[in-house]
Amino acid sequence: MPNYLTSVGMEVHAELATHSKMFCRCPVAFGGEPNTRVCPVCLGLPGTLPVPNRAAIEMVLKTALALNCKIAMHSIFHRKNYFYPDLPKGYQVSQYGDTNPLGYDGWLEIPSDTGGTKKVRIRRVHLEEDTGKLMHLPNGGSGVDYNRAGTPLMEIVTEFPPDISSPTESKEYLTQLRQILVYLGVCDGKMEEGSLRCEPNISVRLEGAEKFGTKTELKNLNSFRSVQLGVAFEVRRQIAEIDTGGKVLQETRGWNEQKESSYVMRLKEEENDYRYFPDPDLAPMVFEPDYIESLRASLPELPTAKAKRYQEVLGLSEYDTGVLIADKETSEFFEEAVGLGGDPKLVCNWMTGDFAKLINEDGLSIRRSKITPTHIVDLVKLVDGGTINGKMAKQLFAESYREGGLPSEIAKAKGASQITDSGEILAIVQKVLGENGEIIAKYKAGNVGVKGFLVGQIMKQSNGRANPAMVQQLLSDELEKP
Ligand SMILES: [Zn+2]
Repeated sequence: MPNYLTSVGMEVHAELATHSKMFCRCPVAFGGEPNTRVCPVCLGLPGTLPVPNRAAIEMVLKTALALNCKIAMHSIFHRKNYFYPDLPKGYQVSQYGDTNPLGYDGWLEIPSDTGGTKKVRIRRVHLEEDTGKLMHLPNGGSGVDYNRAGTPLMEIVTEFPPDISSPTESKEYLTQLRQILVYLGVCDGKMEEGSLRCEPNISVRLEGAEKFGTKTELKNLNSFRSVQLGVAFEVRRQIAEIDTGGKVLQETRGWNEQKESSYVMRLKEEENDYRYFPDPDLAPMVFEPDYIESLRASLPELPTAKAKRYQEVLGLSEYDTGVLIADKETSEFFEEAVGLGGDPKLVCNWMTGDFAKLINEDGLSIRRSKITPTHIVDLVKLVDGGTINGKMAKQLFAESYREGGLPSEIAKAKGASQITDSGEILAIVQKVLGENGEIIAKYKAGNVGVKGFLVGQIMKQSNGRANPAMVQQLLSDELEKP
């Protein structure tokens, strides 16, 4: 069998988390009644003038810096001309050219299929505006909702020739990119709501071939899973096409989530079909180096740096680190707990163990439950200080999760603190031994395994409150007495 190489380029569109649209004051929000967040500017009515949204420009610059891009110190907006009912102006404001987009020539590191990491080069990060949405109406007609028209949209495109060479790496790229955008606070990353949209272009070629194969582009991917499945499907489809003497056509293809297969949407249009030209209504953007440096200094700690710190400074495992930073809220929760004096490893154990299990069962995000970082630290200190044992801690945590009280308060109210008074424990030990003469005889005859039974009885009599280590010690002492 001939060996094929896969190349994947990625175009990602991210709706920016601004309060208002790109060129007007209409609010940006998901859902709602159609055409309730529109004005003459975003409806493209004659005689209106756009005013750029400064926050949107800053968000794109920050993203470009986080993706190690060069910044266009002089940058302009272009008009991309085409007709479609969801585009009221007849053109989309976008950015054209190699060094004109706000950011260009950057890179992002991802885990590689062959182990280690690889750099995926970024060609450009630019700013444009989103279109409206066509809707199929119950009566069979079509309607158009312009609520989304004019929402600031950032496009991030990888460099050619592509660095991504498999379905898994495609998914990894999107995962890492999404994490960065969410940490920067520039996009909510909700793929299911269309805030983050990904269009991979895929080609295959025989190993050793100099020319890249014809690529196809996939649309309508709205989950990490569909990105991985979609790329894998296209690779198989293209190879089968070539192997049977056919030809791969340059097309835009849709993805059918149910059938897990792609279908032809249209032949791909060429760039020069759009007749790009500078938008005469929008002044050029000119940035001072000081301003760019102040933005660079304002960047938060990014996931990769955070992961490194969790492992090297806080001593967490690679696995734990991955779980904590996968979600921004989770890592913030964790850091708050550590800031309150919680031991990082113990805090992490509760968060990734019992706590994660409970919120998963209830389908809650971490900040929606009654447990706060204070609750976790309170519990960790109770266990660490020997006030309660592990089993009690689990029960207390479950109750705290349900009722919302602090574990230490619940423990106090119940008298549930651990017994560490040796006299009190000894009394229970002696009582249990007094009731189990036969077991003691077995033990003395050499069957040391029965000790576990005795420990169980003692713990039971103390309602699980006796300090286990002290029970072990006192029981051994008693059993060894002649
Ligand atoms: Zn508007």
